[in-house]
Amino acid sequence: MSRVDELEKENFDLRQLLEIGKSLNSTLEYNRLIDAILHTCLAQMRVLQAGVFVRREADHAELILNRDYIGFELDHSIPYTIPPNHPLRQQLIDRVDCYTPEELNAAIPAESPDCGLSHMPYQLVVPLVARSDLQGIIVLGRRIDDTEFTADERRYALDMGGLAAIAVYNAYLFDRATIDSLTRLKQRHVLEERMLQLFKHHGEQEQEQEQEPKQTPDPDSLSFLMLDVDYFKPVNDTYGHKFGDDVLRRIAEIVVQYTRPVDIAARYGGEEFVVMLPNLDAEGGAEVAERIRRAVEENRFCHGDKELNITVSIGVAEYTPTLDQLPGDLMARADEAMYEAKSSGRNRVVVARDNRQSD
Ligand code: GH3
Ligand code: MG
Ligand code: MG
Repeated sequence: MSRVDELEKENFDLRQLLEIGKSLNSTLEYNRLIDAILHTCLAQMRVLQAGVFVRREADHAELILNRDYIGFELDHSIPYTIPPNHPLRQQLIDRVDCYTPEELNAAIPAESPDCGLSHMPYQLVVPLVARSDLQGIIVLGRRIDDTEFTADERRYALDMGGLAAIAVYNAYLFDRATIDSLTRLKQRHVLEERMLQLFKHHGEQEQEQEQEPKQTPDPDSLSFLMLDVDYFKPVNDTYGHKFGDDVLRRIAEIVVQYTRPVDIAARYGGEEFVVMLPNLDAEGGAEVAERIRRAVEENRFCHGDKELNITVSIGVAEYTPTLDQLPGDLMARADEAMYEAKSSGRNRVVVARDNRQSD
C-alpha cells in the first residue's frame, strides 16, 4: 500500500470512528446503547458473532453478558459473569489492549475462575476502559470471511472500544441519576422524554408517508399502561409505611418481570406505575397488563404470619395519532381507563374506550 493510500485509509477510519462516537454518545438509554454497540461491531469488524459484558445496573460491580449478544450459541446453564476481583479485569486495565484467546490465557493465571469466556468461540476480546476503570468488554467471534484480525483492525477495535466505554459510562451515570430509589424503576420524566421522542418520530414519518395506507399490525404501534394499587391507604394505615414500601418494591419487581427489555417501566407517583410498550397494540398491551394483574393477585404478601390480598387496577391505551397530540394525551386516556377499572370493581384491566375493538 502506498503512503497516500495509507493516509487515505487512516483518514477514512478516523471519520468512521468519529461517526461511531457521535452515534453511540447520542443515546443514554442503556438497552438501546448496548444494541447499538453490538450492531456497530458486526458491521465495522465484519464478524458474525458479538457480545458485550456490562454492568446490569449502575451500582452493580459484576460484568454480565445477559442478553447482550448476537450470533453466539450459548449454554444457558453457564452464568457468563466476570466478578469484580477477577484477574481478567486487572489485566485489561493494566494493559489496555485487544486479546486473542491465546494471549488472554497467557496473561492471566490458569486457575482463574471460569467467567464464561472459555465457552464462547471468540477471536478477540476488546476492553471498554474509561475513567481508568473497566466499563465492560466486547467479545468478537467469527469473521464473515473467516480471516484473522490484522494489527490495524485490532487498533481500530480498541479505539472503538474506547468510544463505546465513554458512552457506557455516561449511560451508567444517567441510569443512576434517573432511578427511583424506592422501587428501582425509572423516574417518570425519563419515560415522558422517551415518549416525546417517539411521538416526534412518528409525526415525521406520518408526513412522509401521508399517501400510504396504514399497515396492520402497525410495527410502529405503542401502548401504555397506567397501574394503581387498590386500597393501598388502608394497607399503610394498618401495617405501617415500611410494609407499604415493601409492597411497592415487590409490585415493581413483578412489573419488570412481565415486561421486555425494550419496555420502559416508571414510577408515576406514590403507588402508581406506568409502562410504555413499543410495538404492541392495545390488545397486546392488555395481555401484558393482565399477566401483571394476575401475578400481583397471586403473589403472597405476608405481614408476620398474616397473608394479605393485594391487587392492582390497570388502564391500557394505544397511541392513536388522531387522539394523542402529546404524550400527556395518551397518558390521560390510560388514566381514564384505569379509573374505569377502579369504578367497575378494581383488580382488573380496562382498555381505553377509543381503543376497544368494536366486535
Ligand atoms: P384506590 O383503590 O382508590 O386506589 O385506593 P387507595 O387507598 O390506593 O388510594 P389513595 O390514593 O387514597 O391512596 C394512596 C396511598 O398511597 C396514600 C399513601 O398512604 C400511599 N403512598 C403513596 N406513596 C407511598 C410510598 O412511597 N410509600 C408508602 N408506603 N405509601 C405510599
Ligand atoms: Mg393512586
Ligand atoms: Mg390506589
